[in-house]
Amino acid sequence: MANCDMIRRWESCVTHGNFFHALHKDVGGIRAMDKLKNRVLLVDDEAMNLTALTHILKSDYTIYVEKDGQGCLDTARDLKPDLILLDILMPAMNGFEVIAALKKDDITRDIPVIFVTGLNNAHDEEMGFVLGAADYVNKPFSSAVVKLRVKNQIQIINQMRQIKNLSITDPLTELGNRRFFYSQLEQEWNRAKRQQIPISLIVLDIDQFKHFNDTHGHVIGDLALRDVAQIINKGLRRSTDVSARWGGEEFAVILPDTALDGAETVAENICALVREHKFTIDDKTSAKLTISAGVKSIVPPRDDNYSVTNLVSDADKAMYMAKDAGRDRVCIMD
Ligand SMILES: [Mg+2]
Repeated sequence: MANCDMIRRWESCVTHGNFFHALHKDVGGIRAMDKLKNRVLLVDDEAMNLTALTHILKSDYTIYVEKDGQGCLDTARDLKPDLILLDILMPAMNGFEVIAALKKDDITRDIPVIFVTGLNNAHDEEMGFVLGAADYVNKPFSSAVVKLRVKNQIQIINQMRQIKNLSITDPLTELGNRRFFYSQLEQEWNRAKRQQIPISLIVLDIDQFKHFNDTHGHVIGDLALRDVAQIINKGLRRSTDVSARWGGEEFAVILPDTALDGAETVAENICALVREHKFTIDDKTSAKLTISAGVKSIVPPRDDNYSVTNLVSDADKAMYMAKDAGRDRVCIMD
């Protein structure tokens, strides 16, 4: 589970577009370079095949191996590899049964599978594709063909990820966008509810930003938004914390497994960092900005009396309380 959590953390960093942020965090001992390699899981009951495939692929990918179907399912769930190379003829559970199980599971459904097999007839090949295989490699395999077929699949998955990242990233600030925010929030809310642990949400809004824009122009305003986004990221403490641009000058931070005192500290810290920051107007001039923040922390109740929508609404209300109380402060919703 430690491994799984580590990968999840890493992916959460990568997903919101900040590779360097992720690289410099301690994510539990995976070397920085290895994290940039795609992960390939090899599954074969014959050690010799595993050794040969590892040898062919190890310079380009991080390789994991399993020798049976159950091992494949467990590792696929834990590590979410980018690609699985799957033998068909295996004792206990054959490759067809394994791919059927992978496709049934939400966590592993989208991992592409290449069958590596000595079965060499059109019917088996067809069956593999019907069950959702991405490609086929025949045994005895040529290392050039294996490399190319793996490379094709990895290219496809990397492109899909890039497109997905673009669709969830705010282009100006490079934080997650509103869509990203809601998908992450729902995921973390469900996890907190399942594990009965606290979750905190901070809503942040730049004070009198319209006035700033009217005074200095939208180009300078956009630069200020980028600065605030960076300051927010700087104020986060853990790689699992999630920042997003929620709307125009409004931002949100999801703090999983964080109770009120921790969330309040993070919010106060971000407010202070913004207050101290000099926002560039031109070569000689800078200006000041402040933000108002609203915080709500809760252990999601098991009954449905309080939903994730209530959490958003409460944090938002707290932010407006901070505005009403004179701005440049943190308010908490009990
Ligand atoms: Mg076999």
